[in-house]
Amino acid sequence: MLASLKLGSTIAARQLKYTLLLAVGLGLLIVVVRGYQDYHWLDGVYRQGNQRIISSSVPVATQVLVEHDEDLAEVMARGMLNNRSIARVSLNTAEDGIFYELERPADEIPNSLWSEKMFGGHQTIAVPVRDPDRKPVVTIGEMIVDLNPQVYVDAYISRLSWTFLATMCLAILTAICFAATSYFIFSRPIVELGNYMVKADPTDDKRPLDMPPHHRYDDEVQLLGSVTIGLFGMIRRQVGELRKARDELQHANITLEERVEQRTRELNEAMSKLEVLASTDPLTELPNRRAYLARLDEAISIWRRRDTPVSVILLDIDRFKALNDTYGHQAGDAVLVALAKMLTKALRAIDLPARMGGEEFAVLLPGEELEGAMILAERLRKELEKSSVDFGGSKLNFTSSFGVSGLPSSGGMAALEPEVAKQFDALRKAERADISGILYSLADQALYKAKEEGRNRCRLADFKSLSEFKEVFPFDV
Ligand code: GH3
Ligand code: MG
Ligand code: MG
Repeated sequence: MLASLKLGSTIAARQLKYTLLLAVGLGLLIVVVRGYQDYHWLDGVYRQGNQRIISSSVPVATQVLVEHDEDLAEVMARGMLNNRSIARVSLNTAEDGIFYELERPADEIPNSLWSEKMFGGHQTIAVPVRDPDRKPVVTIGEMIVDLNPQVYVDAYISRLSWTFLATMCLAILTAICFAATSYFIFSRPIVELGNYMVKADPTDDKRPLDMPPHHRYDDEVQLLGSVTIGLFGMIRRQVGELRKARDELQHANITLEERVEQRTRELNEAMSKLEVLASTDPLTELPNRRAYLARLDEAISIWRRRDTPVSVILLDIDRFKALNDTYGHQAGDAVLVALAKMLTKALRAIDLPARMGGEEFAVLLPGEELEGAMILAERLRKELEKSSVDFGGSKLNFTSSFGVSGLPSSGGMAALEPEVAKQFDALRKAERADISGILYSLADQALYKAKEEGRNRCRLADFKSLSEFKEVFPFDV
């Protein structure tokens, strides 16, 4: 945008404009002074000329009137009319009036408006004519002269016009010469330097810095050019340093970002591993108690909100201590691993088997009513009873006892006693009750009962004992 500024034309035009205005103003002043002087000079010449011709004609007029010489009167009048400011001459006698009269034809010198205003305008001068030979002197007539300054008006206007023309020409010429000289000496070098400053880009370090335009004289403009190139050099150096610092900073930023990204990745991986470790049993690779209870809490929430039933099976290997004692700890481990596999295989994907600790396992059955859970527990019991684990050449057999509890849906509750159904309703509304703890406890009680009754069997929780939890788990029934 700066480059499109026409610096040259602007300065030169202003220079010419103001020099011309000044010169014309000065010229007009000269014309006015000169016109005033000329007017006074011409006025003097006009008056003296008239006086001279009138006073030199009076003796001839005297002779004409004394001798009544008409021929002489004509010669005198014609002589006077040779002076172009005299329009009419008339000789009058004291007795008879006009003796002789001569008037210039009106169209010989056309009158202008100015002849009435300048040099006193049209005047009539009456000069008495006396006979010098008579004593005492007697006035014998008078000479009347009409004056018209038109010739002087013309001369004055012509003079003024020429003065005006010459002065103006001189003024304009002087102004142009002055403007041109100052343009070449001052404006052009400045304009060239300005254009150079506008076009030069000191931040572009891909090409060498242009030198300022060549200047012939060692003056202020030259100094300005030298200072400019010095400044440009400084700007370029600073910009270069800034660019380098910016690049380094960018590079450091990228490296830092990459490092942070990698660390975050590593941290996420470690956290996922930790998560798996924290929720998995290392021996059987089943979910552990923590993971199981978390899923149970979820299922309980769904039961509360959507009336979806959930059941819990708790199972414990019978007389496992004896198995350990007989075949060794490793055999016991092999049985635990085999049981985990069997559980996983026998269950649906939605069901969750888990190792709760020692030789105690649990199965979470989301969406399953108590009745279905009992059927499944019985099926599992039979499968485990039938199965055997190969270890060290011997086949290890074992049985398990099962305790079942759960939260039935409204439909499932219909099969229960009304008293028990009421307890479940109250449990559903009790926001702060530890339902997972209650469920686990009920299943554990049922499991204990199965053990007590001879092991290798399934028992359903006794929901009448729900009310016993009233004190331990505060909820309203
Ligand atoms: P019950 O039928 O009443 O359940 O009798 P039990 O012997 O199974 O029960 P008890 O609680 O008396 O014994 C549990 C045994 O389980 C004791 C312990 O040595 C064994 N055990 C616990 N955890 C492990 C394990 O990770 N590996 C092995 N091999 N044995 C374990
Ligand atoms: Mg046991
Ligand atoms: Mg046990």
